[in-house]
Amino acid sequence: AGPNAKIARPAGLYAPERRNSRGWDVNEPVDLAALEAMRAPFADHVWHFGSAQAVANPARAGDVVGHYDPARVEDVRAAAAAARNAAPDWAARPAKDRGAILTRAAELYEAHGGELMAILAREAGKTIGDCVSELREAVDFLRYYALEAERLAAPPRGVFACISPWNFPLAIFTGQIAAALSAGNAVLAKPAGQTPLIALRAVALLKEAGVPADVLHLLPGGGEIGAAVIAEGGADGVCFTGSTATAQAIHRSMADHLAPDAPLIAETGGLNAMIVDSTALPEQAVRDAVMSAFGSAGQRCSAARVLYVQEDIAAPFMEMLKGATAELTQGDPWQADTDLGPVIDQMAYDTIAEHVTSRADAWQPYPARGLMHPPTIIPVTGIEALEREVFGPVLHVATFKAGQLDRVIAQINGRGYGLTFGLHTRLGARIAKLSDAVAAGNLYVNRNQIGAVVGSQPFGGEGLSGTGPKAGGPHYMARFTQGAQGAVEG
Ligand code: GLU
Repeated sequence: AGPNAKIARPAGLYAPERRNSRGWDVNEPVDLAALEAMRAPFADHVWHFGSAQAVANPARAGDVVGHYDPARVEDVRAAAAAARNAAPDWAARPAKDRGAILTRAAELYEAHGGELMAILAREAGKTIGDCVSELREAVDFLRYYALEAERLAAPPRGVFACISPWNFPLAIFTGQIAAALSAGNAVLAKPAGQTPLIALRAVALLKEAGVPADVLHLLPGGGEIGAAVIAEGGADGVCFTGSTATAQAIHRSMADHLAPDAPLIAETGGLNAMIVDSTALPEQAVRDAVMSAFGSAGQRCSAARVLYVQEDIAAPFMEMLKGATAELTQGDPWQADTDLGPVIDQMAYDTIAEHVTSRADAWQPYPARGLMHPPTIIPVTGIEALEREVFGPVLHVATFKAGQLDRVIAQINGRGYGLTFGLHTRLGARIAKLSDAVAAGNLYVNRNQIGAVVGSQPFGGEGLSGTGPKAGGPHYMARFTQGAQGAVEG
């Protein structure tokens, strides 16, 4: 059953009856004309949420997507005070009533899907396929957490700070807020500095659905506003998705400014590996490696960063891998045949390019254009050759001999990350062994390793990759309450 199937109730674990959003399955022939008709009125729209700061389109130099007014530190203080006042009334409402508001927001997101996708494509450089899946994921989070809230055993914490990334500026932004709100908390939401417009539009829809103005405060701006939200917001808990380094900085600031029991729910970076052994189906492994490494221009924390190919098949496999990579079309995100668009901004581009130019043997099928960083393959000896996560369309490839697999796993685990892991093999015993041996929140066997689905594939990592519990899973919301982690009824 695909992601549209009704989610079964796992034995012994209460899971609410619900369906994920149907959206459009972009692997099927999509009615592109219908999608385009939804988006067309907004294709050249300029969103005015203020005037102080312009927001650029990473795919097209000179295209201004809109304007907004960044929050100031005094706005953070005012929002924190208003949220504190509003929190008790919101907490006192029955979970069913809060859930009804979030469910109504899901309907509004779907009704305004064309506009939301237009903003995602222009502000974040997302392809049609990525826009569709992101809208669906946002809608699924709203409906999932709305239902999950009904079985929480403990009261909310009070006020939550939600700090979200530009790579899923609608889905993760909405997921954090939906979890905090439906558990009964008031929210201070800080979207990524690169993607304020989609956040502003989403918050307008959440309020239209009935979230009271003082219960949800949007504080757009750069890193200094994020820092102020922790230092001045007086929050009772923090939910963060972004880099491991930023999560560590937040943790330090929380120790200085927040109560000692305020939780940090963090989903951070990864140095994700995929292993392809000599029994793997090469066509399938190539397709899944390309999608995992270069989909969304590699700007997913789940993306494959290091591919280990068994030496016996490495030569033909590499030829196929390069051939498939050369077939990828990079360009205007809102063209039906575009596989990957730009990276988010110049700073991101420069960081990726610096890494690539430091490797003499980097391979690219075509040159860069603007912020379109081409898909890149770099041979390495192994994961130990990488200093850090490179957040873009760069896949490192290493080979291994059959007898070295234990050492490869030890090296992967030794890096301390633990987000996604991909395995291509037809040996059942190897699947069983590696599932146990690899430290990773999400393990994907004989498929791509990106695009976790709310409710059926809870997403999150361990070690340097996050605090758990996983987003879109049955234990997530307990952390937004005063109950013990994972303490839920049912
Ligand atoms: N949930 C996304 C996935 O499974 C990744 C989220 C992220 O990049 O932060 O691909």
